[in-house]
Amino acid sequence: MAEGRLLDELARLLGATGFLCGDQVDPRYASDWSGCRGELPQAVLRPADTEQLAAVLALCYAARQPIVAQGGRTGLVGGAVPATGELVISLERMRSIGAVDPQARTVTVEAGATLQAVQEQVEREGFLLPLDLGARGSCTIGGNIATNAGGNRVLRYGMMRDLVLSLEAVLADGTVVGGLRTMRKDNAGYDLKQLFIGSEGTLGIVTRAVLKLQPLPSSHDAALCTLDDFSSALELLSLWNRCGAGGLSAFEVMWGGYYEAVVTTGECSPPLPPGKAYYLLLETQGFNPPADRERLETLLGEALAADLIADAVIAANNREIGAFWAIREGISELLARLKPGFAYDISLPPDAIDAYAHTVLTQVRDRWPAGQSFAFGHIGDGNLHLFVHPGPGDVAAGPRIDAIVYEEAARFGASISGEHGIGVLKRDHLSCSRSSGEIEIMALLKSTLDPRGILAPGRVIPASHA
Ligand SMILES: Cc1cc2nc3c(=O)[nH]c(=O)nc-3n(C[C@H](O)[C@H](O)[C@H](O)COP(=O)(O)OP(=O)(O)OC[C@H]3O[C@@H](n4cnc5c(N)ncnc54)[C@H](O)[C@@H]3O)c2cc1C
Repeated sequence: MAEGRLLDELARLLGATGFLCGDQVDPRYASDWSGCRGELPQAVLRPADTEQLAAVLALCYAARQPIVAQGGRTGLVGGAVPATGELVISLERMRSIGAVDPQARTVTVEAGATLQAVQEQVEREGFLLPLDLGARGSCTIGGNIATNAGGNRVLRYGMMRDLVLSLEAVLADGTVVGGLRTMRKDNAGYDLKQLFIGSEGTLGIVTRAVLKLQPLPSSHDAALCTLDDFSSALELLSLWNRCGAGGLSAFEVMWGGYYEAVVTTGECSPPLPPGKAYYLLLETQGFNPPADRERLETLLGEALAADLIADAVIAANNREIGAFWAIREGISELLARLKPGFAYDISLPPDAIDAYAHTVLTQVRDRWPAGQSFAFGHIGDGNLHLFVHPGPGDVAAGPRIDAIVYEEAARFGASISGEHGIGVLKRDHLSCSRSSGEIEIMALLKSTLDPRGILAPGRVIPASHA
């Protein structure tokens, strides 16, 4: 329980719109998309700017009050879910988006701005923020930075780490660090911003960032293909890379069971019938619309002739491109519908993906025959997502499914997180992918920057090293 005196001081500092407590605390602040349910926090702190956030943290630090930062609560590893006794710091009032700087090719935003709002604003000014993921309408730039989000276009533009030019963050004791620098080249000592990217709110709270933009492509095409085997997908990717065609911005594979589950519950007729082994969604972006389209058609023609793909349909317009992506992003509907459900985010060399998926799905289906399990992912980046629904009511199945997924991950030399992070759900499996020495360094960094351990305690670093 937070001390009454601390809560009074926080309420005075933040005012009525910035401080929610008691009945004002909506249940949504107690959970995220991972399915983890936490405690309803005693108070939700909603600072209006960096200065207020710094003052909030200074008060919490002095009182040794644990807190957890929240963006859009779309995280899939439970990192933003408040544990007993924690107060929530929500960035939802800090959502301003500055004008694009066309010379520096950057935009400066507050951490609470949603990804989609930033994407739309910079597009209106002729630029592209390349980060894109299914939760775009709710997830925030702060959450994207804190989790080093990946998403649909990593193979072309990189992960969030590659898109952040500089940032400002507040440390546990209220010290503001970093700055909003727009220089592309800056080798003045250690690159401290990297500490806050991907550290899931355990080392500091990100308040503002300067993001790198790309010119807005003038061509946008997508194709949906069926494949009889997974190796054909990899051969097609090699063909694309070998002929230097460029332009490829997404290369997503859906296993047949996933495709079928999404299209048979959807309202629209599917672009290709279900029943095939694999479905590939590939997307291109470029700057020469007729030539870019022709190149896609030529490559798909070659792939058909070489029996790499069995069937293909090219989107005729943006609406059809959206319909293809709606199938790939149909996972949000499955996550919401199939409870309990357990989501996994494994990264491994592309040529090991199919064998790994097969091994895990076979074991899971044998063990939970009444359940459903699906595979899909950003295969161009070697990132496989698995979703396992053990069957209705089997809420205790999680640790047993985890054991299968992570033991096989260790055996295949995989990473247990390609993009979602560690949070609480994967914390005790971190040693599958990181050595004891590496985890010790993480713990040392944590205790140096947050010696009282008030920022998101119990996340990322396993209890054995905390
Ligand atoms: C349908 C769906 C699709 C998704 N697809 C992808 C995908 O393709 N790729 C991908 O990478 N992820 C994906 N995700 C996961 C999720 O959207 C990302 O992790 C996203 O970056 C989280 O942003 P958020 O604002 O919702 O953060 P939250 O869920 O609120 O928080 C996530 C973590 O960041 C911390 N945090 C939040 N804001 C800050 C801040 N300002 N400073 C410091 N720490 C902070 C929290 O404490 C927590 O640990 C998907 C999720 C859903 C539901």
